[in-house]
Amino acid sequence: MFRYLLTTLTLSAVFCVATGQPLPEFKTRGNKIQGLTTAREAKMREALATFEKIMNDTLFQKELLRKTFAYDVPTDPYRTLTTRQVVEKLYKAAEWYQPAEDQTANVYWVIKKRAKIVTVLTPHPAIGYGLPTDTTIYTYTWYFDDAANKADIVGHLAHEWSHKLKFAHLKNSHPGRENTVPYAFGNLIKAFAKKYYQTSSR
Ligand SMILES: [Zn+2]
Repeated sequence: MFRYLLTTLTLSAVFCVATGQPLPEFKTRGNKIQGLTTAREAKMREALATFEKIMNDTLFQKELLRKTFAYDVPTDPYRTLTTRQVVEKLYKAAEWYQPAEDQTANVYWVIKKRAKIVTVLTPHPAIGYGLPTDTTIYTYTWYFDDAANKADIVGHLAHEWSHKLKFAHLKNSHPGRENTVPYAFGNLIKAFAKKYYQTSSR
């Protein structure tokens, strides 16, 4: 009887998650914030705070749950996940270097000095990078310092952070890349950041 009850309870718990329990409260934490100047570091903290606010916005959550994600890496172990499972993974926020499901984006972020260099071969120069074996997200000054990129930076942060949960995409640009988790998630965060900053600057 007890075992039966336990099975029923477990099944109903699984069912609740599958049918859409509210997502947990999400936090962001700047474990390492190195911006070369205090002004940049203030801007980095503002981006972190905006990322947190958007993650807790129910309208954002609704739109994220409506996405159909694509996987362009054939061996991607996440390719069988449902949208709900992807979203829950994002909210559990278990980074490879901090694997507790703490609903907290543990961010290590460094700004690196680099000028914008546009050539025929690189019409869209890199805005920054992250390495699979490194906790840190690197962003270049040429991109970070441009006031026009204020909302984009929040999207960039979300995109790079999702890589720390092992969401992936191919390096080369192709039509389906925008639907991979890092791009779709980062772009939706960016769209909401644009909306937030527009209203707050008026
Ligand atoms: Zn990426």
